[in-house]
Amino acid sequence: MIDFRSDTVTRPTPAMLEAMRNAPIGDDVFGEDPSVNKLEALSAELFGMEAALFCPSGTMTNQIAIKCHTQPGDELICDKLSHIYQYEGGGIAFNSGASVRLIEGNRGRITADQVKESINPDDVHKPITTLVSLENTANRGGGSCYNFADIQSIKEICSQNNLKLHLDGARLFNAIVAKNETPAQYGETFDSISVCLSKGLGAPVGSVLIGKKDFIKKARRIRKVFGGGMRQAGFIAAAGIFALEHNIERLAEDHAHAQMIASVLEKKDFIGTILPVETNIIIFEVKGRYTAPALAAKLKEQGIFVIAISPTQVRVVVHLDISPDQVNRTIEAFNRL
Ligand SMILES: *Cc1c(COP(=O)(O)O)cnc(C)c1O
Repeated sequence: MIDFRSDTVTRPTPAMLEAMRNAPIGDDVFGEDPSVNKLEALSAELFGMEAALFCPSGTMTNQIAIKCHTQPGDELICDKLSHIYQYEGGGIAFNSGASVRLIEGNRGRITADQVKESINPDDVHKPITTLVSLENTANRGGGSCYNFADIQSIKEICSQNNLKLHLDGARLFNAIVAKNETPAQYGETFDSISVCLSKGLGAPVGSVLIGKKDFIKKARRIRKVFGGGMRQAGFIAAAGIFALEHNIERLAEDHAHAQMIASVLEKKDFIGTILPVETNIIIFEVKGRYTAPALAAKLKEQGIFVIAISPTQVRVVVHLDISPDQVNRTIEAFNRL
């Protein structure tokens, strides 16, 4: 089976499992799990921020951040394709009672001007705008990356208007590697950052939320309220530590594999627009003799799993469990279609 459905499907390697097995553990709700404490310290240090919080999922880190940054009735600004809006079960309304101003961005990325235009005036009729949330890389943008200068412009608007700035960085390290950036740049710019350890970095479970000490203290309370306080979580935190220490630079291999596959897709008459491939995600249009679901079914017959994300679009996600040999077999399979 060659599984391109998501970069969440990765399994721990023997070395990662060994690190998990050997992890010192304790009760993290008492703050006594050395491995969780180490992961949180390491994450904060990596981004040059004060503190971090280990959570079961990226949905939880995002939702905790939104809850911490807003009051019920406040409004947050994000791209209309954002994971926080599209794929977190209505959590913004459910958990925070907040309103959302959606922006029509460019492949999941919004601009400072768009943010500026979307800030509500001080008027009793309007929700109070308090938060801007960006996604980098943008999943529905086909793994698109922001230019850092554009993020800085958005930050400026936020500072001028007293808005907090959150980053859904589920795949932030893909952007950092692709754009040759540093985590510290992001740490300086955002009030909070969510990073998934369970995607391209290859850990089986978990995300970290990173921010200032006071913010993380509040976030820890919200995590408990949301039911995310874990006990001997050190076993999974150890996988996260291993992922941060070993699996960041290698993301470049996934990006190269995605380029190899995309360059073959370009030549197929049943494939239409391919969103520019910047990282490990390929989103392409299917036309002519296949619909997206039909193409997915055809590939499945050959043991290749992709997702039809709409009737006309397929998503392929490359990750560390996709070997060079599997990339070649996939290319051969497309050539046979
Ligand atoms: C995967 C993902 C998340 C978090 O998902 P979980 O499955 O809850 O860990 C958040 N944002 C984006 C952009 C994602 O792709």
